[in-house]
Amino acid sequence: MRATTSFPAFVCPRCRGPLSSTPDAYACAPCAVTYPVILGIPDFRVEPDPWISLEDDRAKAIRLHDATTALDMAGSVDAYWAMTPGTPPAQARRFTEYVLEGEQRAAEFLDAIGADDAAPAAPWLEIGCASGDLLAAAADRAIPVVGVDVALRWLVIARHRPALATGAQRLVCANGEHLPFADGVFARVVSLGTLEHCRRAETVLSESARVLRDGGAVNMRTTNRYSLLPEPHVHVWGVGFLPRRWADAYVRWRSGQRYLHHRPLSRGELAVALRRAGFTQIRVDAARLLPGDRRRLGRLAAILGPLYTLARTIPVVASLLSRIAPLLDLSSRTP
Ligand SMILES: [Zn+2]
Repeated sequence: MRATTSFPAFVCPRCRGPLSSTPDAYACAPCAVTYPVILGIPDFRVEPDPWISLEDDRAKAIRLHDATTALDMAGSVDAYWAMTPGTPPAQARRFTEYVLEGEQRAAEFLDAIGADDAAPAAPWLEIGCASGDLLAAAADRAIPVVGVDVALRWLVIARHRPALATGAQRLVCANGEHLPFADGVFARVVSLGTLEHCRRAETVLSESARVLRDGGAVNMRTTNRYSLLPEPHVHVWGVGFLPRRWADAYVRWRSGQRYLHHRPLSRGELAVALRRAGFTQIRVDAARLLPGDRRRLGRLAAILGPLYTLARTIPVVASLLSRIAPLLDLSSRTP
């Protein structure tokens, strides 16, 4: 079943003015900038993905597209890791499993935010849609979503999800800090595990507020800077408690890895950023334990899960928990 809601037109992500378009590109005359359409996906990026240059990402997306035309989702994700040197096979297998389980995790997140409102008044926006797991789960519920991601190569993979092969959802390559949409065009903005990777998460939140309609909702899940558990991307303890300018050197000393493309915010920093972005009804809570989180945590969830869930319901304890919980759920509305 398809919703009849139409997707909003694109505007220039630099000046927000109208664009002229051909099948191959969008162009902004005042900015003298052309935004190419690559493999059918418009590329409105103002800044590259921190991991890879614009040119290398586009080249990789085209190579991936050519190599995966006849493959299903699992085969395409395997092809991605085979094309990505420096990823040990065991780690690549775990990543592939994670991507394939994503649709189930996204469906649980949609349940948790009460997203059973099929055919909403306006489409939703997902910031950081990556391999399209939430877009697919939303398509199953006839919720139209525009998925934005900074990595063109992952959007090419996303199209291998059966629910997205029909073009039910729209995929757009863009920065969360520079959205190519006019003000007030979306009913809800969602984001899972993206904010902590953004150069300027505060700007992503103000852009979210800008593109939302009056009374629109934002629901995001992100890692907590002040988590008491090791930093989940590099598995180093205590990174967030250091001044940000020391984080990379500290992580390199502890683990040999770099820490240049992660910038999680704390509960307090998120609340301030949401308020400055103009949101109301601001909530930043210790993340609700979803069935997928329980599966991933196994025995730990069996032991600590009930205690954690209880703690979330006792106001004073919940407030303390939200300062140190590894994951945060934030929700707010535009006035
Ligand atoms: Zn422009």
